[in-house]
Amino acid sequence: MKAARTDYHIHPNYSIDASPVSIKEYCYKAIELGLVDICFTTHLELDPVRKDIDNYAVLNGEKVSVYNYAWLDNYFYEITRVQEEFRADGLKVKAGIEIGYCRGTEKDIEKIINNYPFDFVLGAIHCIDHIAISSKKESPQYFQSRSLSQVRADYFSILREMVESGLFDSIAHIDLYRRYGISQFGSKILTIHRGAIEPIFMEMARREMGLEINTSSLRRGLKEFHPSREIVALAAKSGVKIFTIGSDAHSLEQLGEYLDEAHALLEEYNLVNHVYSCRRAIPFA
Ligand SMILES: [Zn+2]
Ligand SMILES: [Zn+2]
Repeated sequence: MKAARTDYHIHPNYSIDASPVSIKEYCYKAIELGLVDICFTTHLELDPVRKDIDNYAVLNGEKVSVYNYAWLDNYFYEITRVQEEFRADGLKVKAGIEIGYCRGTEKDIEKIINNYPFDFVLGAIHCIDHIAISSKKESPQYFQSRSLSQVRADYFSILREMVESGLFDSIAHIDLYRRYGISQFGSKILTIHRGAIEPIFMEMARREMGLEINTSSLRRGLKEFHPSREIVALAAKSGVKIFTIGSDAHSLEQLGEYLDEAHALLEEYNLVNHVYSCRRAIPFA
């Protein structure tokens, strides 16, 4: 099996839910693991209804409002420094961001991504109706009060809007609803994408958007990556050609987890892993 050498989903100590591991510490670990191109993707959540819960970043160990751009200035300063420092070691370091898509925040998202020189803008659905479906604690509140067909309608309509917003380079963990939805709905939730996701993939292909293979599901006890094998096959069939691989590391030991297996999955479908630079996808040979 060919080793995967890129990790395009890493949360350093700027994310409120991440371990206090610095950008530099991740770089040392990346070299140890034989990675050659990595991208930091700190969280950005802008839903005003959830402002007291997650409209924060961490700057020098202190929680600050995401709208206090000092954290972004510092984030770019630190990334620029490691880019120079680790170049001789053969490690490329990219500046990315993982934005939780929330209807109505498009202008704010646009302002941030246009004002900073991001290499990679990853879009994610973490919340539906202002409830974090990504959270073990909060998600029952959502899943227990909705039918499966409602979950399907909600999730895929938000996904479509997110894709059509044109703000994002790639979509993170596209079937995240499986993570905690499975305990409420059982295996029935594993197939709700059928018929809903194909037209969205076609739109993503038309826009040359990327799709992430996110390996974090395996460490959470799920049997498949985000997305599942069936969804990867549908993406390929619908013409999606750009794929990235990410561990979604929130701590040092999670960096690079299961990347080889994700790489093998891409190879199985003749799909190509990509890296990004200045928001352009480049096939990673
Ligand atoms: Zn995420
Ligand atoms: Zn993440």
